[in-house]
Amino acid sequence: MPIFKFQYLTMDLSYILNHLGEDREGYFNAVAPPVVQTSNFAFPTVEAMRRGLREEFSYPAYTRGVNPTVEMLREKMAALEGAEDALVFASGSGAIASAVMSNVNSGDHIVSVRDPYTWTNILFSKLLPGFGVETTFIDGCDPANFEKAIKANTRILYLESPNSFTFELQDLGAVSEIARRRGVLTMIDNSYSGPLYQQPLKMGIALSIHSATKYIGGHSDTMGGVVCGSREMMRRIFDSGYMTLGGVAAPFNAWLLLRGLRTLALRMERSSDSTAKIIGFLEKQPEVEKIYYPLYKGNPQYELARRQMTKAGGLFTVALRAASVEQVERFCDSLKRFLLAVSWGGHESLVMPRCLGMPPGSTQEGYNLVRFYIGLEDPEVLTEDLRQALNTLRY
Ligand SMILES: *Cc1c(COP(=O)(O)O)cnc(C)c1O
Repeated sequence: MPIFKFQYLTMDLSYILNHLGEDREGYFNAVAPPVVQTSNFAFPTVEAMRRGLREEFSYPAYTRGVNPTVEMLREKMAALEGAEDALVFASGSGAIASAVMSNVNSGDHIVSVRDPYTWTNILFSKLLPGFGVETTFIDGCDPANFEKAIKANTRILYLESPNSFTFELQDLGAVSEIARRRGVLTMIDNSYSGPLYQQPLKMGIALSIHSATKYIGGHSDTMGGVVCGSREMMRRIFDSGYMTLGGVAAPFNAWLLLRGLRTLALRMERSSDSTAKIIGFLEKQPEVEKIYYPLYKGNPQYELARRQMTKAGGLFTVALRAASVEQVERFCDSLKRFLLAVSWGGHESLVMPRCLGMPPGSTQEGYNLVRFYIGLEDPEVLTEDLRQALNTLRY
């Protein structure tokens, strides 16, 4: 991995993935770290216990606070994002909810990009209003929309760039600048790019959040979430949502995520390269009306994507020239090498149509959108499968 792409790092990527935080002499020089499968930790004296409990943010006393296996992931994730510190959660949604709820009180206001991830949307539109926190959703493509929506009680500008289904971007530098001027906290769901392809903190965003379930785990066998930011902000979240809501990662899940990290760069590169090939095929097919992908030449935000992302990974959407939901369903059902499933970031290629929530015969906007995730399979095999499925749209 060429180091020049990761100038922001004080350490090189290989060091972070293979060595940082790994105290091998402490566990028989084992190459793979131990799963410290314990809920609590004993102290030699009352005085040591007193000190340990005072510093639960940094020292193992109880696994809901600090666990050595989870701690290793915490350290690596902070380094990957160029952050002072990080916190690891049981899921991406747990990370998002804790980060948000630790930073608002009743009477506060949030400005969020329109159509964030489903459960983030529900956090803002259903759960938080019950506690007196209101959210305004805006089109994030123009940074000025954030500024216009800020009120005297606005505490958070919430970003998700790229967005989950059609991948609209927000200009991270411009939004950070507005937030800094107005004294508002910024946070971004950075799951789409992962820590390698976009470093929001370098562009002034305060908190970068990941669903580690996706690329970081990488094998569709565990869930996890991470929040990265300043040590002060991590302590604030730790003392609030982290410890009280208690949605922390199990040691074994953290271990699986650490194992995922070993091959993160390799997997994401493969997925990005295969995606470029497959998009190259799809753009020539008459059954494909439009392609949504941040680094696709036809994207009106292509220049912005190039400025703030290194690569774009394996997630993209196509608009099919399909006359009906039934045709879209037939296309999806006829794919043999793509699993019909939610999520993404694993070894396996996936497909998910937008029409899932639409009745048969619907011509609701977006009925012809189909989202793909390109995994680690041979791109030729995937292309052939797409070719035969597109044939079902010829009539
Ligand atoms: C999956 C996902 C989440 C939620 O993460 P979980 O680990 O499933 O809780 C949040 N944001 C985005 C963009 C996601 O894709």
